[in-house]
Order: sequence, then C-alpha cells, then structure tokens
Amino acid sequence: MGSDELQLVQEAFATNWIAPLGPQVDAFETEFAAHVGSAHAAALSSGTAALHLALRWVGVQPGDEVFCSSLTFSASANPIAYEAGRPVFIDCDRAFWNMDPALLAEALADRAKAGRLPKAVILVHLYGQSADIDPIEKSCREYGVPLIEDAAEALGALYYGTAPSKGRGQEVKGISPGTRGLCGVFSFNGNKIITTSGGGMLVSNDKALIDKARFWATQSRDPAPHYQHSEIGFNYRLSNVLAAIGRGQLRVLEQRVETRRRNFEFYRKAIGDLPGIEFMPEAPYGRCTRWLTCLTIDPAAFGADREQVRLALAEENIEARPVWKPLHLQPVFKDCPVFGGAVAADLFDRGLCLPSGSNLTEADLERVAAVVRRCHRR
Ligand SMILES: *Cc1c(COP(=O)(O)O)cnc(C)c1O
Repeated sequence: MGSDELQLVQEAFATNWIAPLGPQVDAFETEFAAHVGSAHAAALSSGTAALHLALRWVGVQPGDEVFCSSLTFSASANPIAYEAGRPVFIDCDRAFWNMDPALLAEALADRAKAGRLPKAVILVHLYGQSADIDPIEKSCREYGVPLIEDAAEALGALYYGTAPSKGRGQEVKGISPGTRGLCGVFSFNGNKIITTSGGGMLVSNDKALIDKARFWATQSRDPAPHYQHSEIGFNYRLSNVLAAIGRGQLRVLEQRVETRRRNFEFYRKAIGDLPGIEFMPEAPYGRCTRWLTCLTIDPAAFGADREQVRLALAEENIEARPVWKPLHLQPVFKDCPVFGGAVAADLFDRGLCLPSGSNLTEADLERVAAVVRRCHRR
C-alpha cells in the first residue's frame, strides 16, 4: 500500500458509504478512465467479471466461437464458457510472447471462408507487456469482429504503435493497452501491479456499453421504485471501501512500475550473462512494466532445466513459478480448437517467473540471483 489508501478508506467509513456504490466508486472510475485514457469506466468485483460483461455485450450465444490468446491465465477464457461459447486459442509470437498478429489474420481468414467468424477476439497483454495492437486491431476491423483487450496484467504499460518511431529527443507518447479495442479489462487482484485485494475495471469509449455493464453488474434493476427485472443480472460491482483503496493505489502506480522495472534490471545484471538464460524481451513498440520478471532457460546451455531451477529456489523457501500453462494444453479446454500452439508450449516448458513483488529488497533479489547462479552447471 501507498500513503493515501488508509485515509481514503477512512473517508469511506466517515461518510458511512460501505456499499457496492458510493462516491469512492464514482471517483475511482473517473480517475482510472482519465489515467488510462478511456472515456468511460465501470468498477467491478474482478477482472473476470469485467470480461464476462464484455462478452455479454457482444452477445455471445451458445456454440459461438471466441478467439483468445493461448498463453495466459485461465480467467481470460473462462467467461467464454460462462456464456456457453467455444474458445478458439491463438498462439503467441516467439519474439515478445503475445498473440501472433499474422496467426490471428490467418485464423480470421480461415473462419471467414467457412462463413462463421468469431463473436469476438480476446487479446491478452501478458506479463506487463502490450501486445502489438495495431495489426491485430486492423485484422479485427477488416472482418468486423469486436476486439476485447484483457489488460489485467498490463496496467501501467504503454503501446507506441508500429508506426515509424519519432526522432531522437522527441517524446514518444504511448497509449495504455486496453483502450484501443471495443473495451478493455483490468484487474486489481492481490497479485497484480496495484491491488484492492480484489476488483476489476471495464473501460470503453462507448458510453452505452459501460452503462449497460453497470446495469447488469447491479442485478439488472429496471428504473422503477419497486424491484423489477427484465433481464438476468449479476452482483459484480466493486465496494466503495475497495474503491477507496484503488484510488490510493492508482496514485502510486507509476512508482510500482519503476520498482518492477528496477527488479528486472537487477536480475538482468545479476544473471543475464549466464549461458542459456534469456529474459522476456521488451518489444520496441511499447514500455513493459515488468509486472513479473520472466525468463526462459535452455537446459543444454545452462546445465539445468527450468524445473531444477524452480526446485532449487523452493529449497531456499523462494517461490518461483513456471510461465502460464497454455490454455490449449489445459485439461478443461482440451477439446477447443487452436491455431499454432508450439510457441506457447515451448515457453511453458522453459519459462520461469522470478519473484517480482514491489516490496522486494536488494538482499531478497540478491538471494534469488545467487540460487539461479548456483544452478548453472551445478
Ligand atoms: C488476473 C487475470 C485475470 C482475472 O482478473 P481477476 O481480477 O483476478 O478476476 C484475467 N486475465 C489475466 C491475464 C489475468 O492475469
């Protein structure tokens, strides 16, 4: 937590707004929308809820296909199943780990030929890094397929675009991932770069979309003095108390990005020289927050594989985790179609996420690096 959160929570208590609505929620939405550069925002109980409402807005019907990045957390695709849709997974590109724009174009062409385009594309911005939005948005526009951006892991990241970069000395202004498509999804879960303990945000430039999301999120109450409902609703709103925490957290977001990038720099200097270690590259078209420091290990060159390194860290009571297991390899999604898949599978085999919290001390980082070093040709 930063310095303002407790005071903002006290404001919520002092005004007795302990509800899934209130002035802190309104202010959080306004401040968040301004921060990421979107016209409208709805504060929700989770990023998953935000994705679910986005899919309802595009009108996914049972059996409809929805494209989704394969290398991601299961929450990116679960809401497709909530609506009885069918996930179709798209592999990532080898260079920067996000959805491969060429493969998406291929998949859209394939489905267009068959006369059954997907209801939406869910584009994930992985591990603090923006995907290459321009070509993906262009493909979606070409086929008239709505683009939903899952930016749950990429708050604070920037996308400069693939247009020719500006000359030296000129400021390059980026956009926030999650603000280019039809709508974008963010998460304030406990493990994200800022947190409200749990929460999410849906952003869009389409006011009707956000108004409808708020309506569904508060049990679809018709405008009547009595309780009247013409649609199925959800209990998806963020509490006023948690919104107060979110407002304080938003004020320290830029510091958190700096800290995470500093963690990454430390690791890069400490173990980047080891043969067979390769960090997730930062794409030239954006700024990565380094929400997590991720790397791949080539066992032949390094002398130990990913699991050996992970277990060596665990022996020292240091928790590190493999890169996301691709969704097309998950038992629960085993019958879903996939375009490509080998790249994500390889990153899963060799990929490791190092401890990356904003509260790590230099001594903590040192300790992690020392264990990784020891694994080299042990
Ligand atoms: C965390 C996460 C979500 C879900 O967010 P919650 O707020 O935990 O529901 C969705 N997609 C990705 C990629 C995530 O990392």
